[in-house]
Amino acid sequence: MIDFEDVHVRYPDGCVALAGVSFRVPRGQFCVILGRSGSGKSTLLRTVNGLVTPTSGGTRVAGTRVERKTLAVLRPTIGMIHQHFGLVDRLSAATNVVCGALPAISLTRAALGLFPERHRRKACELMAAVGLGPEHLRRRVRDMSGGQQQRVGIARAFMLDPSVVLADEPVASLDPKISAEVLSLLRDQAKSRDATVLCSLHQIDLARAFSDRIIALGGGRVVFDGPPDQLSSDHIARIYGAAPIPGAAPSLARAEPESVS
Ligand code: ADP
Ligand code: MG
Repeated sequence: MIDFEDVHVRYPDGCVALAGVSFRVPRGQFCVILGRSGSGKSTLLRTVNGLVTPTSGGTRVAGTRVERKTLAVLRPTIGMIHQHFGLVDRLSAATNVVCGALPAISLTRAALGLFPERHRRKACELMAAVGLGPEHLRRRVRDMSGGQQQRVGIARAFMLDPSVVLADEPVASLDPKISAEVLSLLRDQAKSRDATVLCSLHQIDLARAFSDRIIALGGGRVVFDGPPDQLSSDHIARIYGAAPIPGAAPSLARAEPESVS
């Protein structure tokens, strides 16, 4: 469903964010991208929706190469969930959700806020599916908790029944209990639609609990690719070096010096 083919990204200032990344994510997989800050997770996700163009190599979605001329067709098939929710604070939760349909309606209708009835109905259904009741529909996003705001973010991402959902550190601003609830909702929504998810995380325990597969990046390269139960403490030490490991058991947090690369 998503193919990364020897993706290199070098930013104009010379920073090499990705140094040859190749892997394929099959349809319906919940794939977590793990790695320390600066390892290239966001850059990798952004090559999928065209916000970053590889310097060489390329990314394909359902066989179509992501490039300027294919973006108009691809973007409505890709949902996005952000760390800081990416919502319009002063608008209601329901309005934010229905805005997930913007890529599919005309500019004129969008400017006038004229969403078809089927989109408004769908927004209500999705809000219910992520556990937000009728009392939340008209609530302004700025008056909602972080966990509620990310539920709005998830509902918005699924408005157009995307085949791919990109979630860039979707729980980095939430406490551990709410993080697990939000990831569980994201996984359930994706599984029920057979949507493919690429989700960057830095918490190892959450990656283990929710992923079908973990890809770890280090220095712009894939340093681990496998099912969560194969991610060993040695792998973790290599991924995170001697830095404190978020979400790791205490025994894993102490990397042996000789195993740190
Ligand atoms: P992560 O999401 O894992 O923290 P990023 O993809 O954001 O990693 O960044 C990877 C590397 O690319 C980092 O060294 C970062 O500083 C650099 N980088 C990211 N965005 C830009 C940019 N727009 N211009 C220059 N360098 C960037
Ligand atoms: Mg990032």
